[in-house]
Amino acid sequence: MALIVQKYGGTSVGTVERIMAVAGRVKRWREQGHQVVVVVSAMSGETDRLVGLAREIQPLPEPRELDVLLSTGEQVTIALLSMALQAQDCPARSYTGAQVHILTDSAHNKARIRDIDGARVRADLDAGRVVVVAGFQGIDEQGDITTLGRGGSDTSAVAITAALKADECQIYTDVDGVYTTDPRVEPKARKLDRITFEEMLEMASLGSKVLQIRSVEFAGKYRVPLRVLSSFEEGEGTLITFEENAVEDAQISGIAFSRDEAKLTVLGVPDQPGVASRILGPIADANIEVDMIVQNIAAHEATTDFTFTVHRNEYERALDILRRTATELGAREVLGDTRIVKISLVGVGMRSHAGIASRMFASLAKEGINIRMISTSEIKISVVVDEKYLELGVRTLHDAFGLERAEVA
Ligand code: ADP
Ligand code: ASP
Ligand code: MG
Repeated sequence: MALIVQKYGGTSVGTVERIMAVAGRVKRWREQGHQVVVVVSAMSGETDRLVGLAREIQPLPEPRELDVLLSTGEQVTIALLSMALQAQDCPARSYTGAQVHILTDSAHNKARIRDIDGARVRADLDAGRVVVVAGFQGIDEQGDITTLGRGGSDTSAVAITAALKADECQIYTDVDGVYTTDPRVEPKARKLDRITFEEMLEMASLGSKVLQIRSVEFAGKYRVPLRVLSSFEEGEGTLITFEENAVEDAQISGIAFSRDEAKLTVLGVPDQPGVASRILGPIADANIEVDMIVQNIAAHEATTDFTFTVHRNEYERALDILRRTATELGAREVLGDTRIVKISLVGVGMRSHAGIASRMFASLAKEGINIRMISTSEIKISVVVDEKYLELGVRTLHDAFGLERAEVA
């Protein structure tokens, strides 16, 4: 008998029929003798709908009130799923984040989980019930409702697994595992049976939305056994493994991409010590995260050009701040571009293989795709390209690195 935490995402609980199907699956696990805690998302589209309502009233709603609103989506699904379980003669109880004391900090809309009191959940499990917990939400020290950032139910599930010391966290979604890249962009993408935790962390942080990045961080910190699998079909899914060499001798395991990018450039800044910090300091003070940074020295002048990227949602704010800094520094011009994307190759195999970057750049060049920025780390290479090249770029690289499915005879 094992203690399993299962998380079902929006599509998996998108209709009453789907909720009934989820109840059927949960019930089967229980009938095999397992204890099951279920974490659910809001029905698909619901969180977006709620954000839309708020924005009709205020373009930037107060974060505290937004959390009160957004947390209602998950409250609907916990109740419906518990009813569906009970309707199938499976004893169940639903709980909001607050009810099971998912204690977070007070950073509304992007709160971090600090502690979970598993006592109530355990008591229900011991009484033979399935426990259904609302994902994505918690409560802070003041008793205010918080949410964990978009896609945050993954993190709720992993955190609950860690708190209960459960045997496995199963993330049920609308694809049957983690693929070499998003199968919606490259239909030839191949499902991975295993991916190392480190690679999954990179994939998630570079834009693969199959798991929220914080859920992967949490899994790493507490060594939570994590599996991604389909709620629509049976299968083993993809195991996130902590063994370094679990994956075949692949150089590249996957391709991640992000459409959430924007680029800002300041041209003709005097090239003096401290310039980079004068430019980025005010951006950091405004709590805007900077991703890639490139600085060029102009050949014959004592000036430099400085480019960096931020999340597209922060573009307007960053541009405003940069314009002010540019005036103070006597820079020539400020440019901005929101029609860019980032494509990244990820693989622990990169450590032991040379020439990956050059193969990447050559493949993109052959398709006439201009690379605007580059950044590398030990197990990833990222490039920024024009938005219109996203699909072509991903497919080209998928091909160039032989990531497609083996031909079926
Ligand atoms: P859920 O609502 O279940 O949380 P998400 O939409 O958040 O589901 O995540 C699943 C989606 O992630 C898939 O439908 C797929 O389009 C996308 N995705 C992006 N990258 C990958 C990848 N490498 N492997 C699998 N799915 C991916
Ligand atoms: N419902 C939330 C969202 O849409 C959380 C989640 O689905 O994980 O972002
Ligand atoms: Mg998700």
